[in-house]
Amino acid sequence: MSFADLGLCDVLSNTAKKLGYSAPSLVQRKAIPALLNNEDLVVISETGSGKTAAFALPVLQLMASKPSISSKHIRALVITPTRELASQVANSFERYGSDLNLNTFGVYGGVRIEPQITRLCGGVDVLVATPGRLLDLYRQQSICFEQLDILVLDEADRMLELGFIDDILELKGLLARKHQTIMFSATFFDEINKLALSMLSQPNIIKINNVNTSGNNIKQVVHPVDKSSKSALLIYLLKTHRWPQVIIFVGTKHGAESLVLKLEKSGINAASIHANRSQHARVNVLDAFKSGKLSVLVATDIASRGIDVNQLPCVINFDLPFAAEDYIHRIGRTGRAGASGVAITLFNEEESKQLLSIEKVIRQKLKREVVSGFVPSKRNTKLSQEETDDELYGNFEADSNYPKSRKNKPSNRKRRR
Ligand code: AMP
Repeated sequence: MSFADLGLCDVLSNTAKKLGYSAPSLVQRKAIPALLNNEDLVVISETGSGKTAAFALPVLQLMASKPSISSKHIRALVITPTRELASQVANSFERYGSDLNLNTFGVYGGVRIEPQITRLCGGVDVLVATPGRLLDLYRQQSICFEQLDILVLDEADRMLELGFIDDILELKGLLARKHQTIMFSATFFDEINKLALSMLSQPNIIKINNVNTSGNNIKQVVHPVDKSSKSALLIYLLKTHRWPQVIIFVGTKHGAESLVLKLEKSGINAASIHANRSQHARVNVLDAFKSGKLSVLVATDIASRGIDVNQLPCVINFDLPFAAEDYIHRIGRTGRAGASGVAITLFNEEESKQLLSIEKVIRQKLKREVVSGFVPSKRNTKLSQEETDDELYGNFEADSNYPKSRKNKPSNRKRRR
């Protein structure tokens, strides 16, 4: 099947070809025709499945077929939970729309608002925005929604986790004109369902199977280890495997900083991205990583969203995530677009609850492998090696709505504009 078979025009089909997309991915095959058909859609699909093109290509086509825009108005709006993702999605629109005469633009916090106001003055066909900055621009009367035809909510599950629900509902209230709404989410739980019911009209729901099963092309392994030996094990793994690029996930900003120092002390060049670093610093680090100049990136969950590096061979969970769904998002950085990848989790005894939650969400028991020279203390070994499937899945029926109920949802997530 080709992109043209999905109803995409020659210009966009050729652009996809030029980018090396020989055939549409599953999510693209399902979402593109429905989107072109002006349907409201909920798409449950992992990052890495080609979901950005699944909405960007048809949105561009719909925009290209309509008259141009007037001052301060926008015609398609894509909301993303983080600045990094907004910037990346805006870049994707630029790339996919390079042969069309359309105006696409990204706005997000952490950078000056004035240039954004100036750019919006002329009107924008496709605006990609984070919720806080978008509302700031609206309140400053720099943006009008009366000509809006399409609203896309990208990574809606993440949006809820980061506390953007009020912003989203406020925004929805501002969109008086009838429009098409598309919602993308990696996970499908009760709150997502509720949000979809409140924002979409009789949506077509598309579920792509890899959700919550964490990518078959990703080899996952857990290394039980004492907390005090985690850094040493990490350094050992990095030096032994010499992956060309790796992202290491940590739980806190402070943890990210101190890990970078330890890595550098042992001769490994690394940099971090987390919410305390300036937008400028984050963009520089991400650019260095994407261009291959930096091979080890240490990231917190919030900052890591939207990192799209082709062929990333390995991700390492230095700390287990607080929310089990974050595990899926994290390991989705590798094994993208069908490539194979390795996801390594360094696990210490205090994290056993988190590991169990993850295994319930992904519905599989992860393989434990103790690394020689890093054998953990007795209790940890016992827990990790003797845990039975019954202990893991015995309660599974009673808990079968686990991903929906979000028992692990952290309460202290901060909102970020
Ligand atoms: P996404 O899920 O949007 O983050 O996309 C993941 C990666 O897949 C990106 O690097 C895209 O450039 C790439 N990609 C998207 N669609 C295709 C396709 N049809 N064929 C090959 N690669 C693709």
